[in-house]
This record gives sequence, C-alpha cells and structure tokens, in this order.
Amino acid sequence: MIYLDYSATTPVSYDVLESYNKATRDYMGNANSIHSLGVKSKVLLNSATKQICELFNIQEEELIYTSGATESNNMALKGVALAYKNRGKHIIVSKLEHPSIYRVCDFLETQGYEISYVNNDSEGLIDFDDLKNKIREDTILVSICAVNSEVGIRQPLKTIRQIIKKENPSTIFHSDMTQAIGKISVCMHDVDMASMSGHKIFGPKGIGFLYKNEKVNMVPLIHGSGKFNDLRSGTPPLPLIVALSKACRIALMDLEKREDNIKKLNDRICKELEKYDGVILNKTKYSIPHILNISFTNIRPETFIHSMEDDEVYISTNTACSSGDLSTSVMAIYNDKKRAMSTIRISLSYVTTNEEINKFLNLFKMKYNQLNSLLKDNK
Ligand code: PMP
Repeated sequence: MIYLDYSATTPVSYDVLESYNKATRDYMGNANSIHSLGVKSKVLLNSATKQICELFNIQEEELIYTSGATESNNMALKGVALAYKNRGKHIIVSKLEHPSIYRVCDFLETQGYEISYVNNDSEGLIDFDDLKNKIREDTILVSICAVNSEVGIRQPLKTIRQIIKKENPSTIFHSDMTQAIGKISVCMHDVDMASMSGHKIFGPKGIGFLYKNEKVNMVPLIHGSGKFNDLRSGTPPLPLIVALSKACRIALMDLEKREDNIKKLNDRICKELEKYDGVILNKTKYSIPHILNISFTNIRPETFIHSMEDDEVYISTNTACSSGDLSTSVMAIYNDKKRAMSTIRISLSYVTTNEEINKFLNLFKMKYNQLNSLLKDNK
C-alpha cells in the first residue's frame, strides 16, 4: 500500500499507541476522583499537559482539550461570539477555511452575526488591505487558517496579527492550525486562539485542543461539573491526552529537515506531472510541500482515485471532508469553476519515501494513459 493522504489523517505511530495502551491499562482512575487511583491519573494528566504546554510555549490554563479540530473551531467561534455579543457581532474569515469554520459561520448568521470574507490574491495570500478595510469597531473575531487544507497555502500569521491589532486591538485572532502543526513551525503568540487535531500528527482520532490566550473570554459549549475544565466539562480522556502529548513531541522534531525532504519529493512529483497535457498544478509560492493539489482537464477525479486505489495507492479529492464538491480553495485562488471541480490532493509526510513516489508516478502514468485512451475510444 502507498498512502498519500496524510492531510486527511495519519496512522497512529507505534510509540503513541504504546503510550495510549499503557495509560489505558495502568491508569483506570478518573482524574477528577480524590482517591489514590484518581490522584495517580491526575499526576499523569498534569505531566502530559505540562509537556504539550512546554512544546507550544503556552500556559496550562490556556489549553482546552477537545475531540479534534472541528470541535475546537466550533468552540472558538461560537464561544467568542457568545462571550462578546454585547461588544459586536461582526466576524471575519478567509476564503480558504475548512467547512468546520464555514458551517459555524452559517449558523452564527442565523443568530444575527455578520460574517465578512476577506479576499486573497492570486497566490492565495490574504489581501492585507482588504483585511484592514474590513475590520470595524464591532469586529469581535478574525479567523484565518495557518495552512489551508486543500492547496496548502501558508499565511503569515504574525503580519496578519499586527494588521488586526493595529486596526482594532480588541479584535480576537483565531487560527485553525490543524494542517500546520507538525508540518511547519508555528508560534502560538502570533494568535489569540488556535485549533489543532491529534489525528493529523500520527496521534489518535478523537483528541485535539484549542489554545485560548488567558485574556480571551469564551462561553463554554459543553456545560457540566467543570471539575477538570469549566470551559469543557467531562471526564478527561487520559489515554487520548497522553497519546496526544507523545504525538506532539514527535511531530515537532526535526521540522525543517523533514520539510526539506518532503520538498524534494514534491518537486519530483511536480516535475513529472507537469509533463501531462491534462494536468494542471494548483500550487503557488505559498503552498507548503506536504500538500500538492492538481486538477484534471478531462478525467474525473473520482474515477482516477478509485483506479489508483485498485492498486492500493491512496490519494484524495479536494479534502476528505468535502469529497466530490467543488474545491472552495482552488476557486478562491484561481476563480475557475472547471478547475475547482476536478481537483485531486496528494499529501505527503515525513515517512513518505522516494520509492513510494517512484511507484506512485509509474502508476499515475499507467492509469492516466488508460483512462485517457478510454475517453478517446468513447468519443
Ligand atoms: N481544519 C482543517 C484545516 C482540517 O484539515 C480538518 C480535517 N480535515 C479539520 C479542521 C477538522 O479536523 P477534525 O477531523 O479533527 O475534526
């Protein structure tokens, strides 16, 4: 099998699974219980949390565990919208966000909030002037992803933060960092809030976190005992948290070296795919090498993906969360519906090898030629 869909999800790494298993086996107590089993779990929980906080240079009170980035994004947007509704009801997001941002925006609109969509240039970079002009007195929140999930566009969060704070110091800046963490280096101090997900960094599914600067107020989505965290009640899922902590530690190692290797693989793929008449690269100077998006001019993406799958090579349409739809990001960058309707995403990781890419390219050639000749025969 050749797996090239790492931006959809990653397998759980061996060490992470070991941590998960050990915590499940040896720490059955509820970390909220006051007896010794609970205390034992609480000690482990605290040390896992401390480690994550050290890795991201944040305070323990600023970390809220969630079930993943969808929940983190919901929590950030709805939580801030409710907390600051008396100050304003205006929110700004980019045109390169994940559905877990857009669907929350749609919901908030039904609740009387106003959503503005900031423009980007033809390379996917946020239009700074447009952002500046859109920020108002009543703008409570700006949410812009650190790395876009479809085309891998990376945004300069520090610069964006400066623009926001200069226009309106009270506006909160949230960034969906789901596709950034473990791929590029990020700084939580560039933003006020950030979302992430464990299963994108070789951790288990069902765990992630929201970073929330201590100065930001938020109304909780989930109410309960509040013992563990009054912003997200419930018994802490200790094995998942321990596994997330381990996954974060591994994910942040050797980032630059890993990126260099992935860039070499990406360059090789691009060099080959450029040769095909029916392939267009959806790649700009801001795309990170881990995510490579292409469009077909004639072949249907689904047909191609299933045909590759017959030989156990796994790639995806625009994103796993919106398969089959128009790629909103390709549309936002190239403003070309046909191109946005026929995208494929190939996503690489630091475990991807040269050999896998050789096999992928050979199979790509074979499938492309087969499907093209079928199309010609049917004409
Ligand atoms: N945001 C981005 C940018 C993503 O790529 C994803 C996953 N496709 C999500 C949010 C949702 O993450 P999760 O699956 O953890 O809910």
